[in-house]
Amino acid sequence: MLVAGNWKMNTDVSEGRALADAIAEGLSSSPPDLGDVDVLVCPPYVHLPAVLDALAEVPVTVGAQDMHAEGEGAYTGDVSAPMLASIGCDAVILGHSERREYYDETDADVNAKAKQAQAHGLVPIVCVGETLEERQAGEADTVVQDQVDGALSGVSVDSGDALIVAYEPIWAIGTGESAAPAQAQEMHAVIRDDLTERYGANVADDIPLLYGGSMKPHNAYGLLSQPDIDGGLIGSASLAADSFLGIAEKAVEVQEESGS
Ligand code: PEP
Repeated sequence: MLVAGNWKMNTDVSEGRALADAIAEGLSSSPPDLGDVDVLVCPPYVHLPAVLDALAEVPVTVGAQDMHAEGEGAYTGDVSAPMLASIGCDAVILGHSERREYYDETDADVNAKAKQAQAHGLVPIVCVGETLEERQAGEADTVVQDQVDGALSGVSVDSGDALIVAYEPIWAIGTGESAAPAQAQEMHAVIRDDLTERYGANVADDIPLLYGGSMKPHNAYGLLSQPDIDGGLIGSASLAADSFLGIAEKAVEVQEESGS
């Protein structure tokens, strides 16, 4: 189980440091024994060194929210996979719906970035998800399968450690209205089938499939207890240590109950 926070473009560096300190404090003073639950935070680029430092002594890994598809070059304003790897990042969010909407990122862009991320030891967190209109038109499965196929074409994955996929229905992001657990599970099963066809069941079963879209402590248990939901990608609730760790505690509860 993986609980991942996407801070988006929120907090200045000192606020981000304070948030990371509060997460570290929460994990060391009254430690919810995390067991097999992994925790990851993805702050803005400029926060990364401070956040890495703040979390150095606790079992929380750090990722970025995007990166360029090239390793270096004349790309003013961009950040590369080798840069992220060189400071100790473990993962990178790719193809978030906000990147797709505001920067016209395509599945082909996500695909190139995923390959580049893997080449530098970063785990790509590939985000997919349909709009409300697409869902209402009965196209949700096809849209998501197309995104998965486009993003992963030629991406080799030989173990569940090499890839994370996040299903984030766009209508649930930042709206306070999460998908119903059964609705999310249905799409996760579609994605799992797709990954099974692509990588075989042994690998596909180990690829973490995260749900994202208004996950909060009060609805996390229902979502995380679904068989194909292996964690959450959390936006606004990751901006406060108590709600973020509250979700991690629900993940621990689910994990303990499932006996794994
Ligand atoms: C997100 O944007 O990745 C997200 C899931 O946001 P929120 O939790 O705020 O809906």
